[in-house]
Amino acid sequence: MSDPILLAVLGDPIGHSKSPLIHQAFANTCGLSIDYQAIHCPKADLEKTLKELYAAGALGLNLTVPLKEAAISFCESLSPQAQRAGSVNTLIRGDRGWTGDNTDGAGLVDDFRAKGINLDQARLLVIGAGGAVAGVCGALLDAGVARIAVMNRTYERAKVLCDRFNDARLMAMSNPPLDSPLDSGLPFDVLIQATSVGHSQQRPHLNPDWLRAEGTVYDLNYGPAHVPIAQWAETHGFRVTDGLGMLVRQAQLAFHQWTGKLPEIEPVYERLRKGLTST
Ligand code: NAP
Repeated sequence: MSDPILLAVLGDPIGHSKSPLIHQAFANTCGLSIDYQAIHCPKADLEKTLKELYAAGALGLNLTVPLKEAAISFCESLSPQAQRAGSVNTLIRGDRGWTGDNTDGAGLVDDFRAKGINLDQARLLVIGAGGAVAGVCGALLDAGVARIAVMNRTYERAKVLCDRFNDARLMAMSNPPLDSPLDSGLPFDVLIQATSVGHSQQRPHLNPDWLRAEGTVYDLNYGPAHVPIAQWAETHGFRVTDGLGMLVRQAQLAFHQWTGKLPEIEPVYERLRKGLTST
């Protein structure tokens, strides 16, 4: 019997990662034997750990906070998606080193499609300007949106991010007072909640008038971190969805790059969903 395929996710912290469970489920579905490790890796250890895993024959890696940007410098080549995002969440073994890719954006757009949320000519308001937003903006632009306004607690970070994409449809927006309308031809069709504030059981400050009636709130968070924005959205009659679908879909795309197999996502999605609702 051949050795299991060596895969891993690196991050700091790493204990919370659902990637080992997701990829093991994918491997089971595809009849592949894998050894998917969750490795605690502070930023200072990244270069050494990447070299060790390459030498050990690893076929692919996932990267999570805070390594997605740092890993770029240790890649031998980058996909166009990773280049645009300035961050990588997936590394694929090449002949001479790691190729970096970013599947977060494609995972998010796939999830929009699966949920029947139309992105064509849609007007998006994105709250947050961290690594996740950098990772998804390219795919959202490619999906044909009309506009993406990025609003962040730290305006300068949103500005730097938007300027880097150099696309007139993407622009940073200052935080207006909560009782003011936005100055950009309201209303937005979709609000993407991409801050990490939900992990402190809070939500960003929002005015419901910024989103059209029957608009959609897509939160990148899931589980307890999703609860505050979900409550706000439901109170105001908006459709709301969490980021579990994005999580599973970005993993599916990574698995496909490593193994050539595209596993079905529903069984592991349902399993994770059940786990979240029972906590
Ligand atoms: P990040 O790079 O650390 O950025 C955090 C963002 O949250 C920044 O825009 C930050 O604003 C904002 N923020 C933090 N605390 C805030 C507060 N108290 N009030 C207002 N804004 C605040 O994190 P990230 O990688 O972009 O991830 C963002 C979230 O998406 C995380 O919760 C992560 O778990 C989730 N995520 C989900 C998926 C998925 O597959 N579903 C994938 C990636 C990320 P400043 O710039 O002002 O600090």
